[in-house]
Amino acid sequence: MPLPHCSNPPTPQETAALRERYRLERERRVRPEGTGQYRATAAEFGYFAADPYAGEVAEREPLHDVVDVAIVGGGFGGILAGARLRGQGMAKVRIIDKGGDFGGTWYWNRYPGIHCDIESHVYLPLLDETGYVPEWKYAPGEEIRRHAVRIAEQFALYEHALFSTAVTSLDWDEAARQWTVTTDRGDAFRATYVVTATGTLSEPKLPGIPGIEDYRGHTFHTSRWDYAYTGGSPDGGLTGLAGKRVGVVGTGATGVQVIPMLAEDAGHLYVFQRTPSAVDVRGQRRMTPAEVGADRAGWAAERRENFLRICSGEHAEQDLVADRWTASAALLEKLLPSFRRHGEPDFEVAYEAADHATMNEIRARVAAEVTDTATAAALTPWYRYACKRPTFSDKYLPAFNRDNVTLVDTADTHGIERMTERGVVVDGVEYEVDCLVFATGFSVGVSGITSGQLPVTGRGGVRLLHSWAERGPRTLHGFTSRGFPNLIRMGSLQNASSVNYTHILDEQAVHAAALVAAAREKGALVEPTPEAEDAWVDVCARDAPDHAWFHAECTPGYYNAEGRGRPNGPTAYPHGAVAFHELLRRWRAENMGEALQS
Ligand code: NDP
Repeated sequence: MPLPHCSNPPTPQETAALRERYRLERERRVRPEGTGQYRATAAEFGYFAADPYAGEVAEREPLHDVVDVAIVGGGFGGILAGARLRGQGMAKVRIIDKGGDFGGTWYWNRYPGIHCDIESHVYLPLLDETGYVPEWKYAPGEEIRRHAVRIAEQFALYEHALFSTAVTSLDWDEAARQWTVTTDRGDAFRATYVVTATGTLSEPKLPGIPGIEDYRGHTFHTSRWDYAYTGGSPDGGLTGLAGKRVGVVGTGATGVQVIPMLAEDAGHLYVFQRTPSAVDVRGQRRMTPAEVGADRAGWAAERRENFLRICSGEHAEQDLVADRWTASAALLEKLLPSFRRHGEPDFEVAYEAADHATMNEIRARVAAEVTDTATAAALTPWYRYACKRPTFSDKYLPAFNRDNVTLVDTADTHGIERMTERGVVVDGVEYEVDCLVFATGFSVGVSGITSGQLPVTGRGGVRLLHSWAERGPRTLHGFTSRGFPNLIRMGSLQNASSVNYTHILDEQAVHAAALVAAAREKGALVEPTPEAEDAWVDVCARDAPDHAWFHAECTPGYYNAEGRGRPNGPTAYPHGAVAFHELLRRWRAENMGEALQS
């Protein structure tokens, strides 16, 4: 189908035609099982989640000691909390992580081509504090992982850390005013404060393809890359794939980065696509320290604040990062009130026109870059910009012009039909592959204290999720909940969110450390008053922007619970991250007592 012509602004007829096209493409893909179509990487598929990087995990004696703070999760959330707590003078800070080292998502994800698609100078945290200046506009994954290690070393976080260890329960002991932290390695130690920083996309998932267990070729998930099989490194050189038939399932943000690398080294690459990504311009380049103003104190904090303001619809004098995220900012936070303030009276009409303009540019790019017209048509995305995670690559689309790459579109069969001993069946055709890579993403929100996977028992033996069962989640600023003293949660629930999530995590870490420091100084517990908690829950509910209509019209994916039409994930503070951070700063100066109990 040719691209429909679109004037700027689009005519009512053009808008109606696009809406209809989006509806049809959505209908083609919605599956009645919703999120039930996936399989967890557990039980017989547990080997997909095993740690390929930790080597032999050394036996150790279980711990029964006492620490000042236990932090669950050693990704950037946990590391930043640790760094900020160390900055407040906390001596014994213990970070616990399932992985064999710090880094979280950057520990697990080491696939070829891995980069962060948020500018490195705003994504990498604590650049001002560590003096580190990234070389590239978009940092490779290994550089980011090393930066996580750098912060952990600088703030002495290795000293008490526990790796290859999963926290299995948190229990409050009212008499001792401490938490008991138990783990899958037999530990049962005490902590005065607990911070949870468990992330949202931490467990790899597999499609529930019939016959997946029958496949006899080599297979793994992108977040557990098997370099022993492929050879090479995240920079490429996958010599083990020479002459091999390789399949990759999934064309999301990970697939878009990994596919050009596989295309270079595989004998033949089959890309099994269900929904094409919107692939925007990357513009990777080296940047000098002078270009980012790294000679000035506070340059990194200023740059990331500027990025956050633009992506939150707030006023900014200039656009320092100036990339496709900032260019598309008004389409990202989906009608946040802050965008409305700057908008036209008829905001929805203007929004839709802007969306059409951006998506038409992205669609035109496919037509310009991919030579085979049928392949180009299959790679063309038909949905609104923020329906799926935007992606960025200058190498992805040209990879489909190679003779050794075949795109297999699975939209009409709702994904891969089945698997056999030898390969993959789509529309009755069997594609034999020696190796099949799953770039099929992660289950949303299955880890941590709000998922039930990590049970938390507070005052009076009350379970956190039981206490929320009737009236929904109840927090003050998302961090603390009544009945669960000295427990601080990092995450988006009734807190903030934005595309540059490490910035959000750092503000959360600063706040968590301030709460702990104030409580310690006053000999108090960190726990909100009932009035403060009620008031915050009201703020979050009263002003929540209605994104349901947006998600209801989107193609299925993890943003909308696979097409169920409601946002998938925690509900954040409704007025955006900039307003939330200002609110927290004011609150810390004036109202901290609302979260301290004697
Ligand atoms: P996604 O969930 O975004 O993508 C999964 C892919 O697998 C989709 O293309 C999906 O198709 C496809 N898929 C699932 N089931 C089937 C099936 N049965 N048959 C065929 N295809 C199937 O996972 P990603 O790992 O790509 O990305 C997850 C998140 O990680 C991103 O959204 C982003 O937040 C983060 N990320 C960030 C990066 C960064 O640079 N900052 C880089 C990479 C990831 P469909 O769309 O039809 O469901």
